[in-house]
Amino acid sequence: ATPLSVTIGTGRGARAGVLYRSAEALQGAHDVDTIVLDKTGTITQGRPELADALSVQGLDEDLLIRAAASAESNSEHPLAQAIVQAAKDRNLELVPIKDFDSVTGAGIDATFPSGSFKSMTENSRNEENTLHVLVGNRRLLEGKGIDLGNGMADQAGAQSLLDTARSWEDQGRTTIFVAIAGRLAGVLAVTDQVKSGSKQAIHDMNERGIQTIMLTGDNQGTAEQVGSQVGVTRVVAQIHPEDKAGIVKALQAQGHKVAMIGDGINDAPALAQADLGMAIGTGTDVAIESADVTLVSGDLNAAVKAIDLSAATMRNIH
Ligand code: ADP
Ligand code: MG
Repeated sequence: ATPLSVTIGTGRGARAGVLYRSAEALQGAHDVDTIVLDKTGTITQGRPELADALSVQGLDEDLLIRAAASAESNSEHPLAQAIVQAAKDRNLELVPIKDFDSVTGAGIDATFPSGSFKSMTENSRNEENTLHVLVGNRRLLEGKGIDLGNGMADQAGAQSLLDTARSWEDQGRTTIFVAIAGRLAGVLAVTDQVKSGSKQAIHDMNERGIQTIMLTGDNQGTAEQVGSQVGVTRVVAQIHPEDKAGIVKALQAQGHKVAMIGDGINDAPALAQADLGMAIGTGTDVAIESADVTLVSGDLNAAVKAIDLSAATMRNIH
């Protein structure tokens, strides 16, 4: 590309909300054949809200939400904020936690004074003076020895909690399981709306012959529903945050030229690893600093624009 083409391309990009870090970033975007996209905050708005809650038989739904929100009160995870907000909306008072352990990509293990969340624990003899509340995915609870299989839903046990959870996941909701004092207490459903431009943008990427791969730590069912809603070529779910860069690297080793689009701190290594890292402008500073391109508004159509501008620049077409 001529210097003039680069100047024109950079200016066009700026007006379309596409900021290139360097001339190389502009010139390098044209022959990308694979785009890896983070789900939460990239394809979706990243503003999850509590949509539903189901407690085990005999347990009050407000108590379930209060315990979950209390456990999440020190977590900065967007899912945690959705649960804490739901408790606020219902005027539920949070119980101060003694201690908490955040398990990356899985959830929270919080410790409370024994006697907290009374109706749940009065029947369980507690030799220690603490009780645990677990809030997270299946892997977290199963790893702590909680039996998820025998929890019955409130309505006369007509449907198991796991069946309900699966049906919520098939609707694209993220499920969050809660255990209090070693027993399954309930499941929460959280929704995060897909951004209005995501479907069109992914359609345009696919149409240019670029394969689109969505990565998420979310469960398989939820991920597949969201993936099919926006039309990505492939979905990779239930991954650890630190796996993202490795997945980009593996695609590169297969000979692909890979762009990565992400917004979060845990996307930064993958953004740096990709041939072209594109950060959501409304995302974290760490992501923006690791990327070659910033998509100012966070609309994924700007990523398509970035690739088209690069192609036009390389052909010196204005
Ligand atoms: P994503 O890739 O969607 O940003 P993460 O890797 O942060 O997700 O988390 C993966 C999964 O781990 C979440 O979908 C959720 O099930 C669970 N999880 C992680 N942190 C929390 C938390 N603080 N509370 C509840 N669940 C959590
Ligand atoms: Mg994200």
